[in-house]
Amino acid sequence: MNLQVRKICLLGDFSVGKTSTVRQFVESRYDEKYLTTVGVKIDTKTIHFDDRSIKLVIWDIAGTDQATPAYKSYLRGMAGYLLVADGTRPETLTAAQGLQQQLQAELGDLPWVGLLNKADLVAEWQISDAQRQELGDQWQLTSAKTGENVEQAFSTLARNLAT
Ligand code: GDP
Ligand code: MG
Repeated sequence: MNLQVRKICLLGDFSVGKTSTVRQFVESRYDEKYLTTVGVKIDTKTIHFDDRSIKLVIWDIAGTDQATPAYKSYLRGMAGYLLVADGTRPETLTAAQGLQQQLQAELGDLPWVGLLNKADLVAEWQISDAQRQELGDQWQLTSAKTGENVEQAFSTLARNLAT
C-alpha cells in the first residue's frame, strides 16, 4: 500500500480552537484548559481511504503575525491548510478569509478547508445564516469540543492532497 506524507498547517486567529481541533483529531479528546501554543506544535496522524494511506504532519502554529520571519518559515513545504475561525467572533472569520487570499496570492492554489469552529455554541453565534451560506462548500461547521465534523474536515483536506 502506498503511503504519502503531507505537511498541513492549522491557521487562524488566536483562540479560535486550532490546538483543540488537532487534539480532538489526534487524541479524540477535548480539554477546557487553555494552554497558549508557543511557536509551533507538530503532530502526525495517518488517514486511510480507498486503497491509500496519507500521513498528515500537522503543524499547529501560534498567532498569525505574518510579518515575522518565523511565520513564513513554518509554512514552508506546506501541502495544504485548515483555516480555523470562531463562530462566536465574526472578526476571526474575516481575518481567516483575508489570510486565505494572501496565501493564495503568495503560494498559489493550495488545497484548503475552512472550519467555522465552536458549533456547539451556535446559539450564541453572531454570524447570520445568509453569511454562512455565502461561505460555500469549502467551509464546514465544526466543534473541537463535541468532535462534530472534525474528522471530516481533515479527511476532506487529505483527499485533496493525495495524488
Ligand atoms: P488556539 O489558540 O486557536 O489554538 O485555540 P485553542 O484550541 O487553545 O482554544 C481556545 C479556547 O477555545 C479554549 O478555551 C478552548 O477550550 C476553547 N474552544 C476551542 N474549540 C472549541 C469548541 O469547539 N467549542 C467550545 N465551546 N470551545 C472551544
Ligand atoms: Mg493554540
